[in-house]
Amino acid sequence: MTVQEQYELLEKTVRGYNPAADFDHIRSAFEYADRCHEGQKRKSGEPYIIHPLAVAQIVAEELKLDSESIEAALLHDVIEDTPATHEDVARMFSPTIANLVEGVSKLTRIQYATKEDEQMENLRKMLMAMSKDIRVILIKVSDRLHNMRTMEYQSPEKQKQKSLETMEIYAPISHRLGMQRIKWELEDLSLKYLDPVGYNEIITRLDAKKPEYDAFLLRTQTQMDDRLTELGIGHMVYGRIKHPYSIYRKMFNQNKSLDEIFDLFAFRVLVDTVGDCYNVLGVIHDIYKPIPGRFKDYIGTEKPNGYQSLHTTVMGPDGLPFEVQIRTWKMHEVAEYGVAAHWKYKQHGQGAGTEGKYEWVRRLLENQEGADAEEYIHSLKVDMFADEVFVFTPNGDVQNLPAGATPIDFAYAIHSAVGNSMVGAKVNNRIVTFDHILKNGDIVEIMTSKSAKGPSRDWMKIAKSSEARSKIRQWFKKEKKEENIAGGRSSFEQELKHAGLSMKDVTDPENLPLLLKKVTYGSLEEMYAAIGYGGFTAQKAVSRMKGELLRISRQHQAEEQLAVGTEDAPIPVPPKPLSKSEQGIIVEGLDNCLVKFSRCCTPVPGDEIVGFITRGYGVSVHRADCPNAAPERRAEQPGRWLKVTWGTDTNESYPTTIDVVCKDRMGLILDISTALSSTSTFVSGLNSRSTEDGFAVIRLEIRVRDGAQMKAIMNKLNQISGVLQVTRPAG
Ligand code: MN
Repeated sequence: MTVQEQYELLEKTVRGYNPAADFDHIRSAFEYADRCHEGQKRKSGEPYIIHPLAVAQIVAEELKLDSESIEAALLHDVIEDTPATHEDVARMFSPTIANLVEGVSKLTRIQYATKEDEQMENLRKMLMAMSKDIRVILIKVSDRLHNMRTMEYQSPEKQKQKSLETMEIYAPISHRLGMQRIKWELEDLSLKYLDPVGYNEIITRLDAKKPEYDAFLLRTQTQMDDRLTELGIGHMVYGRIKHPYSIYRKMFNQNKSLDEIFDLFAFRVLVDTVGDCYNVLGVIHDIYKPIPGRFKDYIGTEKPNGYQSLHTTVMGPDGLPFEVQIRTWKMHEVAEYGVAAHWKYKQHGQGAGTEGKYEWVRRLLENQEGADAEEYIHSLKVDMFADEVFVFTPNGDVQNLPAGATPIDFAYAIHSAVGNSMVGAKVNNRIVTFDHILKNGDIVEIMTSKSAKGPSRDWMKIAKSSEARSKIRQWFKKEKKEENIAGGRSSFEQELKHAGLSMKDVTDPENLPLLLKKVTYGSLEEMYAAIGYGGFTAQKAVSRMKGELLRISRQHQAEEQLAVGTEDAPIPVPPKPLSKSEQGIIVEGLDNCLVKFSRCCTPVPGDEIVGFITRGYGVSVHRADCPNAAPERRAEQPGRWLKVTWGTDTNESYPTTIDVVCKDRMGLILDISTALSSTSTFVSGLNSRSTEDGFAVIRLEIRVRDGAQMKAIMNKLNQISGVLQVTRPAG
């Protein structure tokens, strides 16, 4: 095919789905690119323009994108590989097209090295984040697809390297964007270079069995076809052999030969309505025996990338199992073309109603409501990772930090020792201040010195990540230990005097272990240190010790009285406790009455509380701000509401509840559980539910000591990326 013929094919393809495209512009983009690349050759010896033309062809054929995307695809290498500049392209075509081309070039320039999984995930995210306009990624993926298709002309090293990159970055991105066809092709092409022996084995075996397989496919297809036609269900059914990489993965994972692979075949039934999907499922299960445990309903619960289908695996008449996927035409289009299909619906003004099914795509598009279709498409933004920023170390490792992160966060993310000895920072080779805000793709270098003074308290305010803040806090805790102990001790002694207690009471060998247990420290010194750096307060220490001392003395009294009693004498009743408290609650005017905590607002020590006399269950304690204890309620039955307060001898912990509202994302539960364990919070239950608009509400059932711990936990949860609100439910 000549260059001219290839261009005409492109025009024809675009005309096929978008007759209103701007063909004058497309032609001039082609002619300009052709001029720019004049004289350049591909490794195959063909003129270079073949490549951008082929990429544009993929963009049109596979993704059916708009005129601008076609033009940008034609021009995608001119800024990178020819004298043409961003300004030239902006002037001759449009700033949007110049930005698309620039975006593709930027992604081209990033060098990947094989890194562990986490690095790969970060790289993938960074690619997405760096492409402000999703079309950049779509063009880049098409570019990669054509390069993979023509990889045979490259050196073996280049083949391996590009294939690895494709397998680890571009195939997952295609999957994420829901583009199954492209994903499969990328995987198969990569496999061919990554494991030529394995790939060839599969291809050879499949080829050898082709007549047999084809006969099976046809026979089975006809069987389903006839039955569905008989029942009057409008449908289309077709069968295929699974693609080589998916077979390869199954062989590899299950350590099986090709003959042992369970399901090599997949059939697809396409119908008009969701109802028909389930009807067809019934028919299939009637014709063939379903294999238990293999049915999946991705219509009821769609995959995160928007994929919907019913999957079932059944046993064929010849003892060959096969998979059947049942979906509507519309679901099919989404499955094949992903985000591009969504785009197409929008372009044709049929977008209404599709949004709900595209939760994650919707999240990806910024507040586009109200904008017209064109506008909407033009501002397709990748904001999936708006709360994260991806930067490089000088070695090319990617660090993933919260948005707004500074060199301090970066340094502590590398290692606390790097942070603690930091004396300066460079971003993209220029010295910056410590509060410099890092941007995606920045290369950050930390300058350290052995004689560094260590972090300053201000760093805590500058740092954006809780990791950096907690490491800085750790440093102060450790480095300033002596100072902390001295400071802590003096405030403790002062507070002790205040409470009318003496140091002797505390250090009494019989009391000390019990007192330490009450404040949960291993030694007085540890407690002083904590008071010194602000992790604990002297007031709290003394109040808890006071309560414990009281309990000890009461116990002693009781034991003494028991000791003097004889067999005849009635066993004396222990004296009434001085503070009339039950579970740490003092009820005004009532001694030792039954106390329970209301389930609706789960108060903890430190909360303002009120009591309500229940019928038969004693006094129920509510938080003063609980709607169930609202002033108007109290006014209704004034006689039943009582004043209650927290005593000094509160329990070790109280059950309570926290609600966390957040943007649903991967790893969220993990981050929450990390935050809880870092605050030594005992979790008795965790319940998560997703709301329709992409948020998650997580209810945590925990046990806490008091309001201060509660506050610390809530702060910690608030720092988690994506968390919007942390509340204590009531009412
Ligand atoms: Mn290219």
